[in-house]
Amino acid sequence: MVLSEKYQLIRKLARDFCEKEIPKELQDEIDQTGNYPQELLDKFKQYGFFGIKAPKEIGGQGGDTLAYCITIEEISRVSSVSAIYVSGANSLGTGPLLLAGTEEQKAKYIGGVARGELFPCFGLTEPGAGSDAGGVVTSAVRDGDDWILNGRKAFITGAPIADFCVVFAKTDPKLGSKGITTFIVDMKLPGVSCGKAENKMGIIGCPTSDVILEDVRVPDSCRLGEVNKGFSNAMKTLDYGRLGVASQSVGLGQACLEEAIKYAKERKQFGQPIAKFQAISFMIADMATELEAARELLYNAAVTKDLGDPKASMYCSMAKYFASEACNHIAYKALQIHGGYGYIKDYRIERLYRDCRINSIFEGTSQVQQMVISGALLK
Ligand SMILES: Cc1cc2nc3c(=O)[nH]c(=O)nc-3n(C[C@H](O)[C@H](O)[C@H](O)COP(=O)(O)OP(=O)(O)OC[C@H]3O[C@@H](n4cnc5c(N)ncnc54)[C@H](O)[C@@H]3O)c2cc1C
Repeated sequence: MVLSEKYQLIRKLARDFCEKEIPKELQDEIDQTGNYPQELLDKFKQYGFFGIKAPKEIGGQGGDTLAYCITIEEISRVSSVSAIYVSGANSLGTGPLLLAGTEEQKAKYIGGVARGELFPCFGLTEPGAGSDAGGVVTSAVRDGDDWILNGRKAFITGAPIADFCVVFAKTDPKLGSKGITTFIVDMKLPGVSCGKAENKMGIIGCPTSDVILEDVRVPDSCRLGEVNKGFSNAMKTLDYGRLGVASQSVGLGQACLEEAIKYAKERKQFGQPIAKFQAISFMIADMATELEAARELLYNAAVTKDLGDPKASMYCSMAKYFASEACNHIAYKALQIHGGYGYIKDYRIERLYRDCRINSIFEGTSQVQQMVISGALLK
C-alpha cells in the first residue's frame, strides 16, 4: 500500500525517535537486566505514544488505527519489548474502556494512560482458560453497591507495574461465555496481589505475572459496560490487540531482514561475501516477499477496522496469523544466514529470534486465529 504523506511522517517520527533513544547498548542492557528505564517511558509519554488512539478531548492523539499500527511497527523494528509497553497502553489496556466505558471512566482511565499517569493491564487468561477464554472461572458476586471478585488471572502483561487491571469475571456461570462481566480493578485494592514475575524466553523488560483476586470489593461504578456483556467486549478489544501483535511482527521481521542483508554482505566465505551465494540471496528474497505480504494484510486490516467493515475481525485475525508466523520464518532464516555467530548473544539476531516467538502465541494462538477465520467463512 502506498502511504500518504501523513503516514510517512508518522513512520519517520517514530523511527527517528527509536533509533536515537533506544540504541543497541540500551536494548542489550534491558534484555540482560530485565529493568526497563523509567526515563524511556517518560519520553514515550512526552511523544504521546501511550495515547495514539485515545480521543484528543481526553489527552490522546486522536490517531486512527493505521497510525497506531505504523507507530508500533517502527518501535518494534528497534525494540520489541518497548512496543509491548506502547501497544498494551493503546489496545488491550484501554480498548475495553473505549468500547464500553462511561464518559467518567474514559476521562479517568484512558486519559490517565494517554497522559502517562496510569499504566493498565488486561486480565482475561486464567490457568484453566487460555484459548478457551470463555471458560474463565474468576467470579464476581453482587453485594449491595459492590461486587466481590475471586480468582486468578495468568500471564498478565505489565501486571506488576500496573495501576489498574481490566478483569473479566463470571457473573452468571450458567450462561458460559454469555455470563461474563468486565470490571476495572485498582491494583492497590485490598485482596489484589501479583504472582512472581515470569522468567520469560523473550520480550524481557516488561514484567508478566499472575493477578490474584481474594475477596476484592469493587464498587459498581467500576463495572465496565453492561452485566454479562463482557465477552463480546473482550473479543472486540482483541481485534486491536491482534493488529498490535501483527504490527510488532512486521517491525521485528523488518529488523531481521535488515540484519540478514547487512551480515550477508559483510561475511566472506569461499573468497566472497555470502550474499553472492544464491542459497543466501534467495532466502533474503523469500524473507522480503513474506514480510511485504504481511505488511499489506496488516494495513488492509487496519483500514477495514476503521471503516467498520463487517469482515474486519476476520482481517485482523488474518493479519495476526500471517504476520506472526511470517516473522518467525524470517527470524529463523536471518539467524541461519548468521551461521554460528547468530547463536551468540553479541549479535542482535539472537534476541530478535527469541522476541519473535511470542507473537504466534499471545492474543490468540495461530490455531485460534485459524478458528476465527474459518468460523467467519463457514458460518
Ligand atoms: C508473555 C505472555 C504475555 C501474555 N499477556 C497476556 C495478557 O496481558 N492478558 C491476558 O489475558 N493473557 C495474556 N497472555 C496469555 C495468552 O494470551 C495465552 O497464553 C494464549 O491465549 C494461549 O493460551 P494457553 O497458554 O493457555 O494455551 P492453550 O490454550 O492451553 O493452548 C495450548 C495449545 O493448544 C492449542 N489449542 C487450544 N485449543 C485448541 C483448539 N480448539 N483447536 C486447536 N488447537 C487448540 C493452542 O493453539 C496451543 O498450541 C500472555 C501469555 C504470555 C506467554
